[in-house]
Amino acid sequence: MNHDRLLSIDDEPAVCELIKNVAEDVGYAVRTTSDPDEFRDSVRSFDPTVIVLDLQMPGADGVELLRYLAEVKCRAQVLVVSRADGKNLETVKRQGMAHGLDMMGALCKPVPVPELGTLLKNNMEVDGEINEQSLAKAIENGDIIVHYQPKIHLTENGTWKIDAVEALARWQHARHGLVMPDAFVPLAEETGLIRALSERVFESVIKQVREWSDEGLVLSVAVNLSASILDDLRFPDQLSSLVRQHGIEESRLIVEITESGVMSDVARAMDILTRLRIKGFRLSIDDFGLGYSSLVQLYRMPFNEVKIDKSFVMEAINDNEARTIVCSILGLANSLGMSVCAEGVESQKTLEFLKSHDCKTAQGYLVSAPVSPDAAARLIREWNSDKDGTEPRKAP
Ligand code: C2E
Ligand code: MG
Ligand code: MG
Repeated sequence: MNHDRLLSIDDEPAVCELIKNVAEDVGYAVRTTSDPDEFRDSVRSFDPTVIVLDLQMPGADGVELLRYLAEVKCRAQVLVVSRADGKNLETVKRQGMAHGLDMMGALCKPVPVPELGTLLKNNMEVDGEINEQSLAKAIENGDIIVHYQPKIHLTENGTWKIDAVEALARWQHARHGLVMPDAFVPLAEETGLIRALSERVFESVIKQVREWSDEGLVLSVAVNLSASILDDLRFPDQLSSLVRQHGIEESRLIVEITESGVMSDVARAMDILTRLRIKGFRLSIDDFGLGYSSLVQLYRMPFNEVKIDKSFVMEAINDNEARTIVCSILGLANSLGMSVCAEGVESQKTLEFLKSHDCKTAQGYLVSAPVSPDAAARLIREWNSDKDGTEPRKAP
């Protein structure tokens, strides 16, 4: 189905035809109707991204249809057109906004073709593209959601149990579906939106941890934090008050520092990390072995855990060099008294290899891909209640 879908209701067939032509030229899939019932049906079945609504139709009231759109929580952008004078149109536009609708604008009939074309085109660009503007809107609208990937830990009796999850941000996008963080986290870092994004993710995670706790599911949660925002000295206190507010112990939160290479002020970052650690949060260095993460940082910074980057883990069985890197990181971390998590564990063979090299924490598609909070909770319960197996089965 075309990502840009326009639904138009107008009692004049000539106007319908005109709007159809202009919209199709710009690239929309178009449905037009003159019948309010058919219109309501199409709102549901066609799921338009844009609605062009005639306000004055014999036998139908445009304002009533606006109210209907608000009732069904329609997310389309709405453009009103009418022979009514400009002032009236503006009033209706404001009414729509007051109902919580996304009002694109108002046009007087006869419909000015160039203006309509520009409006429709701009709407496609703003809504369809992944850019600063659309990301800011997504953060504000709560379209950034969190999925969770289980982490397994080797217990004393040799079984792997899920004791933690990693929180991974996703953008629920009207046009692109679920957008992965590689497509928007770097953009958030470049534009400074990373702060707002992280706030959203932390809030959502803490609430989720509380909810799971209340349901008897006690887990630690790892949250990714870009090194580039480790410059706000208030951050450790803010995070502490957020977790306390929800009755969560600091030690349940693992802050994974993702290296973007831009740690603007190392002394300041060190100050923040040390205070986070003193407050009881756990600290992990992510994607270790790649890019900017270095032995010096491992030595200087107060990390509890190293996460070996998945590119090495995934190749550890087949590639000598990758295996050497994995073994070296394990040896190094163990001698520094740090725990190690291997990410990107896709096979039982890799897990066995890690176990034989004293790696006690793992994460990867073998256990599960990142999934919604509900799916994660189900999977964790099922996995941890399966007491017999010494090795994990592949999750359904
Ligand atoms: P990461 O923290 O290293 O997360 C692990 C990534 O590896 C996730 O990708 C996960 O889906 C993927 N992965 C896990 N197991 C396997 C496996 O067995 N095989 C393969 N091929 N891949 C696996 P995802 O979710 O696309 O996240 C990508 C990166 O985006 C994360 O890497 C993290 O650096 C960043 N990120 C995600 N959420 C946030 C956030 O809330 N804030 C910040 N600052 N960064 C985030
Ligand atoms: Mg991570
Ligand atoms: Mg990683």
